[in-house]
Amino acid sequence: MYIDGEWTGSASGETFDAINPALGEPFGQIPKGGRDDARRAVEAANRALAEWKKVPLWERSALCHKVADIIDARKEEVGDILCTELGKPRHGEATDESGETSRPWRIAAEQAKFFEAHTKPCEDASKRVLTFWRPRGVITAITPWNFPAAIPGEYLPFAIVMGNTVCWTPAPTAAATAIKLMECIHEAGVPKGVINLITGPGAEVGDELVVNPGTHAVGMTGSPATANIITQRAGLKPRLFELGGNGPIVILPDADPAQIATSVAFACYYAAGQVCSCAERILVADEIKKDFVDAMVEESKHWVTGDPWDKNVNMGPQNNMGVVEKMTTHLNDAVDKGAKIVAGGKRPDRPGFFYDPTVLVDFSNDSLVNREETFGPIAPIKSFKTEKEAWECINECNLGLVSAVFTQDIDRAWTWAEGLNTGLTVINDWTHFWEHHLPFGGMASNQSGMGRIGGRHTLEFMSDLKTIAFSVGGPAVGPSMWK
Ligand code: NAD
Repeated sequence: MYIDGEWTGSASGETFDAINPALGEPFGQIPKGGRDDARRAVEAANRALAEWKKVPLWERSALCHKVADIIDARKEEVGDILCTELGKPRHGEATDESGETSRPWRIAAEQAKFFEAHTKPCEDASKRVLTFWRPRGVITAITPWNFPAAIPGEYLPFAIVMGNTVCWTPAPTAAATAIKLMECIHEAGVPKGVINLITGPGAEVGDELVVNPGTHAVGMTGSPATANIITQRAGLKPRLFELGGNGPIVILPDADPAQIATSVAFACYYAAGQVCSCAERILVADEIKKDFVDAMVEESKHWVTGDPWDKNVNMGPQNNMGVVEKMTTHLNDAVDKGAKIVAGGKRPDRPGFFYDPTVLVDFSNDSLVNREETFGPIAPIKSFKTEKEAWECINECNLGLVSAVFTQDIDRAWTWAEGLNTGLTVINDWTHFWEHHLPFGGMASNQSGMGRIGGRHTLEFMSDLKTIAFSVGGPAVGPSMWK
């Protein structure tokens, strides 16, 4: 762990196993932090805050660039740990993520310099009113395991560039990658206490960072269940939640099934289906269903599981046995309710937490694949004769992060995009499209999140808007509007 500028074990001296999911075996030991460690980090972050917020914005920005430079210089190490700890294929997804890890650090560094507040005209002629951004204080950042190098970048640089300090806890099954990233932050010379890393169980370390009065806002990426607990525990602290999704992808009759299947298969199978923006449910017009299902079965053959260090492997394992079991539960439930498995549907005969890429057809509206996020390598397909049927299926689910629509008809594309209850709808491409400066998050009133991450939206969350009213020409007497 890294607290107050020092590498440290846990106060209790306890550790837990870091597991290689491609083998199902431990490869190292991680400090098992607890509440005492989290409290120590909060104290350090508060001590650091007083000086850090006075550091000029341009200097804070330059430091974020320096962290990015070091991440880039050490990206092979980042790729190696992503392969070992997550089983991400070394020549594919591990390289993708390690190459992207520095990007949000640079975007935060640049966008903060142009993050303007405003002067405000007002009715009282004697007043000059202006607003500016101040740091919130100490930010709690809680991150998941699926992109353990990239996702911390959605919080940490945006927090520190705005003058906040951070207490960060990563998912225990991705803690070794967090430590690698922290090494880069340390090497860049981020002052002591400005970013603190505490590894350990979320229900202890994460909970302490949420409830401790010394933290002032909570940013968390993870499951809706955890976000609900945090909501009950956080009191009045502002919260930014990036949570689970469940597609859908809608394919209208004028789409070319063979042409789009590659893109849809990526949306289902990338990162072994462990992405919040995965396709998860595919609604296809009945006229082109057969061609589309055939194309998806063909596409599934290109996704090869196995040793993630092997150049020919492009699909790694699931992160842990819980994810494997959820995949099995969802498949069994769908089949019990009438769906058919036409590709995959089983675990390959090898150690580790692998699952074969799976195409499932004709799932029912009340099945778990439709109602919940599966988070595995699954392409659940259902056809519709009328658009009303498709809407009925989609609206059975209370998640709404990213959707996609495939059609050449601009009117239909627009109508669907406006109607879908997701924060982002992509027309004619996979659901994983996003760039770090664009707003991203769940639609209000569903279970996919709260607020928006990305560029100035994250900067806003990391800041408190201060209003100053200046009286010109001496104090006014009484409420000005009565004069
Ligand atoms: P999770 O909810 O189990 O854990 C997320 C984090 O919360 C971890 O760091 C965990 O240690 C911590 N935590 C657990 N219990 C806690 C508690 N009581 N108090 C405070 N913190 C606690 O999620 P996960 O399994 O790590 O991640 C997978 C989920 O994340 C999926 O649902 C996925 O869709 C979602 N996700 C969303 C996005 C997005 O941008 N919307 C991106 C990636 C992942």
